[in-house]
Amino acid sequence: MRWENLSESGHDRAADAALFGADAVTTRTFDTPEFQGITFHEVRARSIVNRVPGASRMPFEWTVNPYRGCTHACVYCFARKTHSYLDLDTGLDFDSQIVVKVNAPELLRRDLASPRWRGEHIAMGTNVDCYQRAEGRYRLMPGIIDALRERANPFSILTKGTLILRDLDLLTRAARVTDVGISVSVGFTDAELWRTVEPGTPAPERRLDVVRTLAGQGIGCGVLMAPVLPFLSDEPAQLRATVRAIAAAGATSVTPLVLHLRPGAREWFMAWLARHHPHLVRRYERLYAEGSYAPKWYQRRVTRQVHDLAREYGIGPARAGMPRRIRAARPETAPEVPGPTQLSFL
Ligand code: SF4
Repeated sequence: MRWENLSESGHDRAADAALFGADAVTTRTFDTPEFQGITFHEVRARSIVNRVPGASRMPFEWTVNPYRGCTHACVYCFARKTHSYLDLDTGLDFDSQIVVKVNAPELLRRDLASPRWRGEHIAMGTNVDCYQRAEGRYRLMPGIIDALRERANPFSILTKGTLILRDLDLLTRAARVTDVGISVSVGFTDAELWRTVEPGTPAPERRLDVVRTLAGQGIGCGVLMAPVLPFLSDEPAQLRATVRAIAAAGATSVTPLVLHLRPGAREWFMAWLARHHPHLVRRYERLYAEGSYAPKWYQRRVTRQVHDLAREYGIGPARAGMPRRIRAARPETAPEVPGPTQLSFL
């Protein structure tokens, strides 16, 4: 495995080199059924706050990712490519060889305390899911949320993991002193499709229960309806069923995103397609003939359909990529730390 010159995003490998050294890796497996076949590589990272290359095109500039690889194992996952930088493959290794940055909370405390840090928004769950199963054992997120709360640093989390509800109290406390955004990803509600294409994730209905629970506590949660899978989840009736379920769960917004197939994910997804839906292979090859993205006309059509349905069911689309903000139930005095400039993307 190659542990140097590691990029979080996969867009610019030179940008955040040398996150940790080879001597810092401890490899572990666990006997419990939920971790069968999974190997954890515990590392002491050298840095944790990453600047997003090409940030001017993104709704966020800074990210924190305590894990690499994801046991949620979504076949289409765009982060698969980043595993190749570790000399691991972008298929099964991505699903089962998980890098855990065990010192993430202490590193984040250090970075947030730096005089150079300007208190900008930090996005989590943008590369791999920070509430994947590993988090149940390693419990890195409570320390991360606390570090952000102590500095009143705005942040957002995007997840498919129901484990986020474990940290509900911590998130609510953080929201009393800064902007906190939560979004849950639910691309479709078809159970059969979910079992094969997102085999390690909680079922869509369980994810919508997260939205429901948050809404019940007065906490706004948006849904990223991603990915919409051409010819598999884009029928009008399917889109309607999904948006209706999202609305019924009490989501504050729904943001559709059509599947994109970058190198690393593309090969894995197309092999899955050939196994499960061989009659669609040619149609996908034609739709993605120009590259990683479906044609604009197709993306626009899906977006318009979802927005129309969202209006019909009484929920609004979010601004692109913007998770909704937790609204604190009552104000609380900010902690006694130097107050950073707060930028809200929500
Ligand atoms: S949950 Fe997100 S990060 Fe994890 S495999 Fe699925 S798409 Fe990738």
